Amino acid sequence: MTARSHHVAILGCGVIGLSTGLAILEAQPDGPNRSKTRVTIVAKELPGSATPADQKHSAEYASVWAGGHHVSDAKTERELRHDKVTFDRMSMLAQDKPWRTQKVDSSSAFGEPLLPITKPAASSPASAIQGREPLVWVHQTELFERRDPSQSTRPPYQGVLDWYPDVSSHHFEMAMEAIHKERADNPLSLQFKELPPASLAPRFGWGCTFSTIDINVPVYLDWLLERFLQLGGRVVVSKANSLQHAVRIAASSTGSRAVCRDTSTWTSVPPVDALVVSPGLGARSIVGIEDLAVHPQRGQVVVVNAPWLSVDEGNRWQNLCHELPGVSVVRPQGGREVYVIPRGDGTVVCGGTRIVDEWDPTPRAETTKTILERCLKIMPQLVDPRKRNALIEPRVEDIEVLGVNVGLRPARRGGVRLEKAQKDVDGAKVIFNYGYGGAGYQASWGAALEAKKQLVDEALGLSSATPSKARL
Ligand SMILES: Cc1cc2nc3c(=O)[nH]c(=O)nc-3n(C[C@H](O)[C@H](O)[C@H](O)COP(=O)(O)OP(=O)(O)OC[C@H]3O[C@@H](n4cnc5c(N)ncnc54)[C@H](O)[C@@H]3O)c2cc1C
Repeated sequence: MTARSHHVAILGCGVIGLSTGLAILEAQPDGPNRSKTRVTIVAKELPGSATPADQKHSAEYASVWAGGHHVSDAKTERELRHDKVTFDRMSMLAQDKPWRTQKVDSSSAFGEPLLPITKPAASSPASAIQGREPLVWVHQTELFERRDPSQSTRPPYQGVLDWYPDVSSHHFEMAMEAIHKERADNPLSLQFKELPPASLAPRFGWGCTFSTIDINVPVYLDWLLERFLQLGGRVVVSKANSLQHAVRIAASSTGSRAVCRDTSTWTSVPPVDALVVSPGLGARSIVGIEDLAVHPQRGQVVVVNAPWLSVDEGNRWQNLCHELPGVSVVRPQGGREVYVIPRGDGTVVCGGTRIVDEWDPTPRAETTKTILERCLKIMPQLVDPRKRNALIEPRVEDIEVLGVNVGLRPARRGGVRLEKAQKDVDGAKVIFNYGYGGAGYQASWGAALEAKKQLVDEALGLSSATPSKARL
C-alpha cells in the first residue's frame, strides 16, 4: 500500500530554513511504496542566484551578509552539539565537493511556472561555483585579549575550541592520513595547539591555532538552494504576515511566484501538515510569533581582494588546503570584533562590529576604516606584497576594497528557540527554529537535523523515538 505523503512548509530561506529543508529531503526513503515528504519554502527573499541582479538584499536577511567562519562560541551543551554536528557535516562536504559533480538540468533550472528571477542559464550553480568553493579549509589563529586578573584563569577556549581536531569520522581520518603523507615535515598543522604565552603580544592573554572551515556564504547559499530544488523542493517567494498566512501560501499553487524543478510533483499541492518557522529577525513581527526577545545585532564587514592570501589551490592535498590563514581577536567580554576570513576565491572578509539592538542598514565610512586598521595590525599581508616594503608600515589605503556590507544578526534573548508550538495553525503542527544570532552557519546542520529528527518527524508521526532519546 502506498503511504500518504506529507507536506512540510518552511518559513524562511536563510541558512537555517534551507538546511532544515535539505535535512528533510535528504532523508527521503527510496522505493515507490514509501511515504515521501514534500517541502515548500516560503520566503520574501532568496539567495543571490534567485534574485534579480538589480535587487539588493535587505540587511535583515542575515545569511547573505555573514563572514562566515566555523569558530565555535558555544555557551551551552546544545550549541556545542549543533556546532560539532555542523563541523562534521561541513568537513565531509569540503572533502567530497558534491557541487563539482552535481548534475544541473539547465533547461528547466527554475521549472515552470518561472519566477521573474535571474535564471542561472549557462552559469548554472555548478559552473558558477567553479573556482569558488562554498567551503574551504583554513588554518585558524584565535587571540584572546587579556582579562581582568581577578577573573578565571581557565583558558577561554577550553571545552569550546579544543575539540576542533578531535573529529572521529572516517573522512577526516582519511584527510589526516593524506595530509600526513604529503606533509611529513609538518604533520601537526591540523591539530589544535595552544600558543606559548611568550610568543604572544602583551595585550593577549591566550592564543591557539587549529584547522577549521570558512564558508563563502553567497556561493554556499546558492548551492543549498540548488540542491533543495534538485531534491524536489519548491520555493514560493512571498511575504507572510502571519503563521496562518505562511501555511496558506504554502498550500496554494501560487502561480508565477513558485519555483520548482520537478513540476510534475507539484501539479497539485497538498495541505500543509507541519510548518517550520525560521524567519530570522522576522520572528519579531510575524503574527503568531511576535517574539520580542528577537533583536538585531548589527554587523559591518569589508570584503577585500587579496588573492595572494586567499586562493585555495584545490587538489593539492587530496582536496584539502590548510594554508589559508584565518584569524580572530576575542575581546575580554567574549565578542569577536576583529576577524579575517579568507574565502579561497581571492577575496577576504574583514570584520567587524556587533552593535546590539541597532537596525541601521547603511555602512559607515569611519567603521570601514577602523575595521581595516585593526585587521591590518593582525594581518599585514592584506596589502599586496608588491606594495609592502620592510621599511614602510602597510597602509589601509593600499588594501583593495571590493565592498562594504551590513547585516543584522537575528539574535534572541534567552537563546535559540527550537521547539514545537503549543497550538496548531490551520491544521499544521508548528515548529520554531530561529534565534541563531551570530552562529547560524556553524550551527546550521546541527539545528536542521535536530529539528528534523526530533520535531518534524514527531509532528508527522514518523518517529517512535521520544525527543530526548532521538539521536542526531
Ligand atoms: C556580519 C555578519 C557576520 C556573521 N558571521 C558569521 C560567522 O562567521 N559564522 C556563523 O555561523 N554565522 C555568522 N553570522 C550569523 C549568520 O549569518 C546568521 O546566524 C544566520 O544567517 C541566520 O540564518 P536564518 O536562516 O536564521 O535567518 P536569515 O538568514 O535572516 O533568513 C531569514 C529568512 O526568512 C525570510 N523572512 C523573514 N520574514 C519573513 C516574512 N514575514 N515572510 C516571508 N519570509 C520572511 C527572509 O526573507 C529570509 O529568507 C554572521 C552574520 C552577520 C550579519
